[in-house]
Amino acid sequence: MTVILDGKTVSERRIELLREAIDESGFSPRLATVLVGDDPASALYVRMKHQACERVHIGSINVTLPAGATTERVLETVRRLNADPEIHGILVQLPLPAGIDREAVIEAVSPEKDVDGFHPCNLGRLVSGQPLFAPCTPLGIMNLLCEYGITPGGQRAVVVGRSIDVGRPMAALLLNADATVTVCHRRTRDLGSVVRSADLVVVAVGQARFLTAEMVGEGATVVDVGTNRVEGRLVGDVDFEAVRERAGAITPVPGGVGPMTIATLMENTFEAARRLTCGSAP
Ligand code: NAP
Repeated sequence: MTVILDGKTVSERRIELLREAIDESGFSPRLATVLVGDDPASALYVRMKHQACERVHIGSINVTLPAGATTERVLETVRRLNADPEIHGILVQLPLPAGIDREAVIEAVSPEKDVDGFHPCNLGRLVSGQPLFAPCTPLGIMNLLCEYGITPGGQRAVVVGRSIDVGRPMAALLLNADATVTVCHRRTRDLGSVVRSADLVVVAVGQARFLTAEMVGEGATVVDVGTNRVEGRLVGDVDFEAVRERAGAITPVPGGVGPMTIATLMENTFEAARRLTCGSAP
């Protein structure tokens, strides 16, 4: 029987536990989001993050800048939030409009407030095995696997996709958890046979139903990061109905990785507030 890795239910439970922990802590965590431009999807993601903040009793503010804002204006905003002692976590919603220097903006966020985990310091710490903040999507996946008692240690893990926000940090987290990790991309030869050899597959390519049943080994754990709009519906990177027949465990889309990402952002923000309030060094 294939186990459905139900990120929605697990994230709800983690949100409840987090709210209790925050209420008991006496801290007042606050998250600041920075939204540049008027992309409707980005605006929706930012709204969802603020709704999650409300649920866990994290204060939140949003700074909206026009699509035509300069890199310098975005940097000024980030610097102001860095200097604000009432703000513990900063999230700049990506993607940024064309013309804004994404790397400069990411590097401007104080690593101690970088709850998205994209700052090179945080990515470097993750790769060195000493994470402070890890990116929310891959960390959420690790939490989801853990909740289902799936331990990556010793497993052959294949990550398809090598982006900075998902594929690369996912590979680092799995390696830190003692998996034997292979990372695939467009230049990977014979992708099907590489993926078929895996006990655990994480797919983050951004192409609807990219991973087919023939590419999956019997009993493998399959994690689908993809979010693709097809005829108005949200569809993952995995051909879910066919792959679930072969997989031992699989995440659905929607209701798998997405809700875990938001819950993990909340957990990272609480952790940032705890560290900044207690003054504990990383
Ligand atoms: P991305 O930056 O576009 O990276 C896609 C990766 O997939 C690249 O490394 C690319 O390889 C690889 N790839 C593309 N086509 C391939 C192919 N035919 N064979 C092998 N590799 C291929 O995307 P991303 O930011 O990682 O996001 C991936 C998906 O996850 C998107 O659908 C995104 O919306 C979704 N996502 C969901 C969440 C969530 O919370 N649920 C969070 C983040 C992202 P190259 O490097 O060789 O080009």
